[in-house]
Amino acid sequence: MSEFSTTEITAGDEDLHSTAVPGNSRKVFIKTYGCQMNVYDSERMEDALSGEGFVQTNSMEEADLVLLNTCHIREKAAEKVFSEIGRIRQLKERRAGTGKPLTLGVTGCVAQAEGEEIMRRAPAVDLVAGPQTYHRLNDMVSKAASGERVIATEFEIEQKFAQMPQIERRSAIARGVAAFLTVQEGCDKFCTFCVVPYTRGAEVSRSPAQIIEEAKRLRDAGVREITLLGQNVNAWAGTLEGRSLNLGELIFELAEIDGVERLRYTTSHPIDMHPELLTAHRDVKKLMPYLHLPVQAGSDRVLKAMNRHHTRAEYIDLIAAIREARPDMAISGDFIVGFPGETDADFEDTIQVIREVTYASAFSFKYSPRPGTPGAELDAQVPETVKSERLQVLQDLLKEQQIAFNKACVGKQMDILLEKRGRKDGQLIGRSPWLQSVVVDGEPEEIGHFIRVRVTHGGPASLLAERA
Ligand code: SF4
Repeated sequence: MSEFSTTEITAGDEDLHSTAVPGNSRKVFIKTYGCQMNVYDSERMEDALSGEGFVQTNSMEEADLVLLNTCHIREKAAEKVFSEIGRIRQLKERRAGTGKPLTLGVTGCVAQAEGEEIMRRAPAVDLVAGPQTYHRLNDMVSKAASGERVIATEFEIEQKFAQMPQIERRSAIARGVAAFLTVQEGCDKFCTFCVVPYTRGAEVSRSPAQIIEEAKRLRDAGVREITLLGQNVNAWAGTLEGRSLNLGELIFELAEIDGVERLRYTTSHPIDMHPELLTAHRDVKKLMPYLHLPVQAGSDRVLKAMNRHHTRAEYIDLIAAIREARPDMAISGDFIVGFPGETDADFEDTIQVIREVTYASAFSFKYSPRPGTPGAELDAQVPETVKSERLQVLQDLLKEQQIAFNKACVGKQMDILLEKRGRKDGQLIGRSPWLQSVVVDGEPEEIGHFIRVRVTHGGPASLLAERA
C-alpha cells in the first residue's frame, strides 16, 4: 500500500481547472483517485495531452476523452472502477451516433494490476495504461480514438522520466503556489500488505538535473512551496556533475534555488532516513519541520510479519534522532490495525508507540487483504469486529494528539504561505510550516505571499489566526 493519504479528486474540484476552453478543441476529463502521486500524474497527463490540442473540461458530458486515473489501495478498488465504467458506458452509447464519440481510458494502479481483466470485462474501455507508460499517452490515445483497443502495462519508468514533457508554465501557474514534484517512483520494500511494488514496479529515481529544472520552472510560474513525491521518496538517489547524491543532498541543492521558499517530501520509509537527511532537517531552513514517517504497527512480531525491515525500537530511536536534529519537528504516520495474527498485546504495542512518539496527524486503516500480496495468504485473519474496535481506539488517540498539537499552537507566531481563498469573502487559507491549514483575513491579491500570523484558535483540522 502506498503510504500517501488517499482522496478522490475530480478535475474541476479546484479553481485551477477553470481554464477557458476554445470552442473547437478536443476536451479531456480526468477523474483522479488516490494519492498525491496520482494527482501529479494526472496533471502531467493533462500537460502531455495539451500538446495534442486537448484542453481540460470539468464536465464528463462534454469530454471527447475520459480518463479514470485509478488507485488500488482501497478495498474492492477494481469493482468500483468497473461500476464507474458501467456509468460511462451509457454516456458513450448515447454519444455513439452523434458524430462526437467518446474515448474512455483507465490509467493508474488498477489499470496496471487488472489491465487484462478490464479489457476482457469492459468492452467500453478503449485504453488501459499503467503508470509507467504515460510518456506514450498521446500515441495511445490517438490509436484508441481511431478504434484500436490499446493496453500498455509495461514497466518503462526510466523512459517515462526521460520522455515526459517538462511541466508547462501555463499549467504550473494554474496549479497554485504549492506544487508536487515527483522525484522517485516504485518500491523495493515489499511490505506484505501492499500492492505498490506490483503496480508501480521497482524503485527508480528521476535525474537531479531534471528535478532541478522542474523546480525552477515551478518557481518561475509562481510556486513557492514544493513537495517532493515518491512512493519511497527517501530512497531517491542520483548523480549530479559526477557527484552521487541522496535525498538529503538533493534537498541542499534545491534549497539553493531563489524563490523556492519551502520544501517538503513524502512518503518516507524509516530504513531510508540517511544521516544527510537529518542534517538537511537541521541546517536547511527551507525544509519544513514536518515529516510523514509511517510505522504501520508497534509490535516487532507484526512489523516482521509485515516485512517492514525495522523494529519498534529502531523507529523510536530514529524519531528521537530526527527531533534532536530539528526539535520542533511534527511527525505524521500511517497505521494498519488488524494485520493477520495481530493480538491484543500487539495492538497495545502500537498504542504505546503512538503515546511515545505523539503524532501531529496520521492516517489509519483496517487491514484488508490485497489479492496477490503475501498478507492475503496468511491464516489468522483478524475478525472485522475486532479490527473496527481497535481502529476506533487508535483513531481516538490520534485525534486527541492532533487536537493537542493544534491547540498548542495557540498564541504562537508563525509564517504562513497564503494558498487560496477561504470559504467566506475576505478570508484566505494559508499553510503553516507544520502543514496545518490556517484561516486568516486577507485579500486574494495576497495569495502566493508569506505573512506572519499569531494563532488565535486551534481546531481539530485547522487553525484560525490574525496578523502578527
Ligand atoms: S514501503 Fe511498503 S507500504 Fe510503502 S509502498 Fe513500499 S511496499 Fe508499500
